[in-house]
Amino acid sequence: MKVIKDVVCPFCGSLCDDIEVVLDKGKIIEVKNACQLGAVKIAGNEGGKRLLSPLIKIDGKFIPVSYDEAAVKAAEILLEAEFPIFYGFGSTEAEAHKESIILAEEAGAIWDHCPSVCHGPSVMGIQEIGLAGCTLGEIRNRSDLIIYLGCNPMEAHPRHMSRYTTFPRGYFREKGFQERTVVVIDIRFTETAKLANHFIQIEPDGDFEFISALRAILRGRELREKVISGIPVEKIQQLAEIMKNAKHGVIFFGLGLATTKGKYRNVDAALSLVRDLNEHTKFYVMPLRGHYNVTGAQNVITWITGYPFAVSLTRGFPQYNPGEFSMASVLSQKEADAAFIVASDPVGNSPRKVMNHFAQIPVIALDPYETPTTRLADVVFPVTISGVESEGTAYRMDSVPLRLRKVKPGPKGILTDQQVLNKIHKKYIQLKKKKN
Ligand code: SF4
Repeated sequence: MKVIKDVVCPFCGSLCDDIEVVLDKGKIIEVKNACQLGAVKIAGNEGGKRLLSPLIKIDGKFIPVSYDEAAVKAAEILLEAEFPIFYGFGSTEAEAHKESIILAEEAGAIWDHCPSVCHGPSVMGIQEIGLAGCTLGEIRNRSDLIIYLGCNPMEAHPRHMSRYTTFPRGYFREKGFQERTVVVIDIRFTETAKLANHFIQIEPDGDFEFISALRAILRGRELREKVISGIPVEKIQQLAEIMKNAKHGVIFFGLGLATTKGKYRNVDAALSLVRDLNEHTKFYVMPLRGHYNVTGAQNVITWITGYPFAVSLTRGFPQYNPGEFSMASVLSQKEADAAFIVASDPVGNSPRKVMNHFAQIPVIALDPYETPTTRLADVVFPVTISGVESEGTAYRMDSVPLRLRKVKPGPKGILTDQQVLNKIHKKYIQLKKKKN
């Protein structure tokens, strides 16, 4: 029996780094400390069919081939394409992000990742207003007011409250939850709301008006309306007092804010509210990110190109335009003539228009498991599961980078995302030289 400690969970953006994995003869028999979501992923019980050989589709049938043969086919597809798109990356290591961006630049492609279908409005709001940010460690040690706005961590990030925000004892919060106030603002009574001191149930699509009312009250303005977004003004005034009187407050927001009516303007309002609150006390704000390394993908593309998502590298220099270069736009406009998908299943999760175009163009897919995207692809590369079968770097939702650990070997002969990308890149260079 072997116990590996301090394993980082590669499931959600909380990246809990206190996981213990118990192995017997190289097999995982127990995962300690993780929530159900993380434990299932680490133990490999996700239920999908594991891919065990690179595949090339010929006449509609998959033929098993070597990695080299599949890499040549992938390189040929990229060489022939005039407007390829690279997409995915939320669930792979930062080293693979870097490798994929280098290849995308070489191939003159669009490079996009998950925010274009989820937290993109948050990223755009942050670009406009700026972010009063801090780490989850600071929140654990200092925060006495936690606000969850349009998000439900008890179901999406199950250990968020117990590890970072609500229940743990901190350096300046020795009594743990007894010294903290939790407020949930949402359109429905969620599992997270059950644990809150205050639950404020706003009307659907009422976020912008509600936040604007809070800002007006904080600035000492009189409101003409008696009820805003379904909430009596006295209750909004009480919340403004709670916020002003906190010593160290934080707002976590989710897609319930960023993707409802108003989108990045909602985020803009929440960030502005936090800026206003800093005239009274210390206040911070953080998007609650879903996939475990979507923050990493955003960091890596930003250090390389200066832009956070939806980046076009087609003209030899980076251009940024979410409305034009996001995966959904490029596919629904039928512009892309090849797709390169890493650690994502856009075919299984996209609108019909996007799916239809995926079916019309050559698709290259890297994934540990069979998915609707790998089934539709022309070239498929099996890969290890980062953070379980291979190492790498991941960025927690507060942009703190953590080292993912390898806890067991992957299936025999299976490469990592980074190794596959590197192989395709080398083949691409060789073929390009030959062609010229
Ligand atoms: S909260 Fe997220 S990172 Fe932590 S154990 Fe659960 S799934 Fe893993």
